[in-house]
Amino acid sequence: MSIATSTESVQKLPILCGGQWVQSAAQRWGDVFNPSRGTRIAQVPLCNAQEVDRVVRAAAAALDSWADVPVVERARVIFKFRQICLERFEDLAKCLTREHGKTLAEARASVQRGIEVLEFACGIPSLIMGSTLPNIARNVDSETTRHPVGVCVGITPFNFPVMVPLWMFPIALVCGNTFVLKPSERVPQSANLLGELLIEAGLPPGVFSIVHGDKPCVDALLTHPQVAAISFVGSTSIAQYVYETGAKHGKRVQSAGGAKNHLIVAPDADLDQAAAAIQASAFGCAGERCMAGSVAVPVGAIAQPLVDRLVKSAEKMKTGPTDAGDAVDMGPLITRQHQQRVAGYLDIAAGEGATVALDGREINAARSDGFFIGPSVVDRVTKPMRVANEEIFGPVLSVLRVDDVSEAIAVARDFPYGNGASIFTNSGWIAREFKMRFNAGMIGINIGVPAPMAWFPFTGWNKSFFGDLHIQGLEAVHFYTRQKTVMTRWFASADDSHHDPVWRQNK
Ligand code: NAD
Repeated sequence: MSIATSTESVQKLPILCGGQWVQSAAQRWGDVFNPSRGTRIAQVPLCNAQEVDRVVRAAAAALDSWADVPVVERARVIFKFRQICLERFEDLAKCLTREHGKTLAEARASVQRGIEVLEFACGIPSLIMGSTLPNIARNVDSETTRHPVGVCVGITPFNFPVMVPLWMFPIALVCGNTFVLKPSERVPQSANLLGELLIEAGLPPGVFSIVHGDKPCVDALLTHPQVAAISFVGSTSIAQYVYETGAKHGKRVQSAGGAKNHLIVAPDADLDQAAAAIQASAFGCAGERCMAGSVAVPVGAIAQPLVDRLVKSAEKMKTGPTDAGDAVDMGPLITRQHQQRVAGYLDIAAGEGATVALDGREINAARSDGFFIGPSVVDRVTKPMRVANEEIFGPVLSVLRVDDVSEAIAVARDFPYGNGASIFTNSGWIAREFKMRFNAGMIGINIGVPAPMAWFPFTGWNKSFFGDLHIQGLEAVHFYTRQKTVMTRWFASADDSHHDPVWRQNK
């Protein structure tokens, strides 16, 4: 594919190493696009193992002095960073809209979600307290304390350029670790802006670094002897690879993967409410969300009225460029290649016997420069079909009609993913059955996107998560700290020995 002529200046992005922005010596560079226009807006270095080594060594050199900073002072830096993020809220939202393509409203919502992690992180001093048990044996006291794990690495996906990095580094930093971010090479500018704001907040050199790249860069991080822990968010095959490779090299790993999320509509549901929530869940962020509801499962006779409502309202959605302040409901997909892949699923669905009730490819003729596909609805999908099983990661909603609620719950019994699932119902009993039995880690009841807020862990199951301790919440604090257990016994000296009987007599 030839690169469209850009009217925008093309910057060669630096990396952040030891507190300095430095131009990479990378031999390979990637193109960053504005997906609303199909134009190249920046070039990102694809760093090799030597550059990764330099960055990790700088992070390791900064570790001891940062770990010695009292936790309340570390939290104060993040508090200041939060203030700066609030002041630069619009810049963050616009930066990510330009390189990712989300609508500004969606970008703002995702920045807000990230800022909530900063608010959580400021409370970490009360979450990393240890525990003590005095006199666990005669004159012996025991205590546990929490300590940083070392140099932590974050490898992030393209779909939330600000929010997903914020899931990781604020918590790791307040816990006393240093951090190396490897953002998606599709959206590196938002990461660099976060780095600038962190420096402005007063973070010492080397405590936070950014290295850019693709597989060789990731591999160098996964195997580097001075890396202690890895947080990954991305597609399932890479998540599994990162988990296995990192674990094999002795790292602590939390690795969140892809998803395929079901939205069940029980016969007693409020149909208008359910349809509105399903529309937002399936087509919000152009379907490029790991918590997007991509399979609607209507039960019984409500299927047809639900599909009619969904098609009617989705048809009215305006898809278009998001970088010019136009009022649009949905932006482009991330790359031309991804747009073509998503569009291909409509052919696959039709070929397997499903009905394409709304075909988003039709808007494409008018938008040939950007990577657009409009909202699409594929009806009469059955369980073996590819659109029922594979993560499409675009605005394509599959409708899998079932006869009763137990069949709807059974749909997910042998399903490989396990991120989110929602039910729409007015019955407490049905909601409870669903909550207890559905095979996924994040459940919504009359909520279309049950993504946990910062104070709760992001609890994907099955092939949506590899590891033990999840991202966000208290589990993240435990991931970024390790415990020490101390047993203490002091002996009375000759001078002290007379105190003990007196103390006991006074009781
Ligand atoms: P991706 O897996 O292609 O890339 C994620 C990261 O891995 C990037 O930084 C990329 O540079 C790196 N990477 C890519 N290929 C690699 C390889 N072969 N070896 C080593 N590293 C490699 O994912 P993406 O397309 O950027 O993001 C979309 C995916 O992320 C979707 O599957 C989505 O469901 C998932 N996601 C999951 C969650 C969650 O919480 N479970 C959240 C957001 C996104």
